[in-house]
Amino acid sequence: MQDDRLMETALRSTPGIGVRHGRGLQIAGAGIWLDPPKPKPWALVSHAHIDHFARHDHTVCSPPTAALIHARYGRPRKGVLNAIPFGQSIEREAFSIRLHAAGHILGSAMVHLTRHDDGATLLYTGDFKLRDSLTCERAEPVQADTLVMETTFGLPRFKFPPRAEVTAAVHRFVFATLDAGKVPLLLGYSLGKAQEILALLDGIGVPVMAHESILKMGAVYRECGRVLPEHELLDLDRAAGHVVVAPPQTTKTLCAKLPCRTALLSGWALDKSAKYRYGVDEAFPLSDHADHDELLQLIDQVCPRVVYTVHGYTAEFAADLRRRGIEAWSLVDNDQLELRLEGRVDCS
Ligand SMILES: [Zn+2]
Repeated sequence: MQDDRLMETALRSTPGIGVRHGRGLQIAGAGIWLDPPKPKPWALVSHAHIDHFARHDHTVCSPPTAALIHARYGRPRKGVLNAIPFGQSIEREAFSIRLHAAGHILGSAMVHLTRHDDGATLLYTGDFKLRDSLTCERAEPVQADTLVMETTFGLPRFKFPPRAEVTAAVHRFVFATLDAGKVPLLLGYSLGKAQEILALLDGIGVPVMAHESILKMGAVYRECGRVLPEHELLDLDRAAGHVVVAPPQTTKTLCAKLPCRTALLSGWALDKSAKYRYGVDEAFPLSDHADHDELLQLIDQVCPRVVYTVHGYTAEFAADLRRRGIEAWSLVDNDQLELRLEGRVDCS
């Protein structure tokens, strides 16, 4: 309730397309939802990670996301899944809507809306990154008046090293673990991260096994034309001499059965305490999200009049932008109060 009231204050300050953040993101005054966590009559789903997906009556997403949803969550008994290619326009109420690659995982999309009556535009990023990926489409952000963006790593201390550096560190970990007579167990989320891990093991010269959930998602990547290096289904009896890729939730079970050393691949590895927090032997900073520099780079590319932040360090990043002279507010924290207290009711 309070979020909605505060948001309305913000909406008065800008003439663009408004958004509401209550139980999910909604375009103000329209039946258009963006990644709502609960079922809605009509929703855009940016990508197939569970925190962005629910079974809606009518879902719009990219074709790879539709294939991943079917493989991951099964085919729905009811409801419509409408897959539209990147760049193709659809009409809904008083808006034209297009999807553009977000560079987060295969099929991940940014959503661009244009309002028919005044040409106002909005870009919702979903999860994204601007760095090149080994396994998914490169992000293609487009200009918009209003930018709604994720800010998972929205603090300046989050700066990811070049991929070559991370790859070299992972390879060293694999060889050192094998030399010690143990199995290197690389941990990453089964959709997106695991496929990137497999790709960075390409050419290492050590056979690779992967958890069945990773093979299932990898099959969709291949159906969509993505090439993944050779790997086979994890077989605990034959795992010695292999490098194993598995999702983090399997660590305990696998370590109880295999003499292994564990490494987590995650953006959170930039935190010195990550190893201890996640209970792993090593942590390497490989992320599917934008780091702080990329968040700023996105704003340069989109050139918005106003920015709303929705995930992670939302208030901190929005405050950072305001110090840089860009109007920006968190949709999930109470920095809208600052807007009211500062009396900034008309920035047009
Ligand atoms: Zn995601």
